[in-house]
Amino acid sequence: MADYIRVLVCGAAGQMGRFVTQAVRKAPDMKVVAAVDNREVGRDAGELAGGEVTGTPIVSDLECAIGRGEPDVMIDFTIPDVVRPNMIAALNKGVRLVVGTTGIGEATLDEVQALVEQKRLGAVVCPNFSLGANLMMLAAELAAKHYPYAEIIELHHEKKKDAPSGTSLLTAELIQEARAKAGFVPAKPPGPEVAARGLAASGVPVHSVRLPGYVANQEVMFSDTGEVLTIKHESTSRESFMPGVLMAVRYVMKNKGLTTSLRDILLSQS
Ligand code: NAD
Repeated sequence: MADYIRVLVCGAAGQMGRFVTQAVRKAPDMKVVAAVDNREVGRDAGELAGGEVTGTPIVSDLECAIGRGEPDVMIDFTIPDVVRPNMIAALNKGVRLVVGTTGIGEATLDEVQALVEQKRLGAVVCPNFSLGANLMMLAAELAAKHYPYAEIIELHHEKKKDAPSGTSLLTAELIQEARAKAGFVPAKPPGPEVAARGLAASGVPVHSVRLPGYVANQEVMFSDTGEVLTIKHESTSRESFMPGVLMAVRYVMKNKGLTTSLRDILLSQS
């Protein structure tokens, strides 16, 4: 058995895939053994990612790449339409998953969970690999039952398609769940129900800003009489997702089953 983790990067020509290729190449315990994309076929994945030549050309056929590269883990940052067949193909060949592609529905997740259990493999399918964003959510859960007022401001680049962001909706949900678990009754957000007061998500007003210059930022504000607590996270580059991706690769090598949040991995390590 190799003393490094053999990684296949799917979506290797994409923005995230290029960062992933670089991050895996620099990790001392991992190696890129295959790169898949339907663009830039034939180009060296390492060179395309702006680094040294890795000797791993991009190919378009995933099953072929798995056969040749014999990866332990497939990292997928592609598109919603292709991620499902990619995940099924990899699991059927005994390859563990680390998937960052967003827009995966509940039915697909259920299907992946069943296959992961049947094959006794590890898989992390997670819409947000930023350590900071996940720690921000954990901190918000902790604060939720101590403050009756909470609001979220999320700020993203102007090309982001969805609003509010998935992370802000999940944060609001976690705040609501933490409060319900503690039997804590929050204050009703003040002010009339007008658009300027944001969208009430899980009882928490969420305000979305879309401006060039931002990558992904979020502030969770809590308050009670005489004080405001702000938990703030800023992503300044897509590189911010890489420590979480590498953490997930190491995690699936040791843990079986499906994990859908980096938060659970962070909690398992605390
Ligand atoms: P991108 O468009 O730059 O890259 C997607 C790549 O997938 C492209 O190179 C495309 O050619 C490739 N692709 C399409 N069909 C393919 C196929 N059949 N086989 C192999 N490759 C194929 O997009 P991106 O900005 O890199 O984002 C990719 C995904 O990652 C999106 O869903 C995005 O929302 C998500 N994302 C997740 C996180 C996270 O933390 N989980 C962070 C950022 C982005």
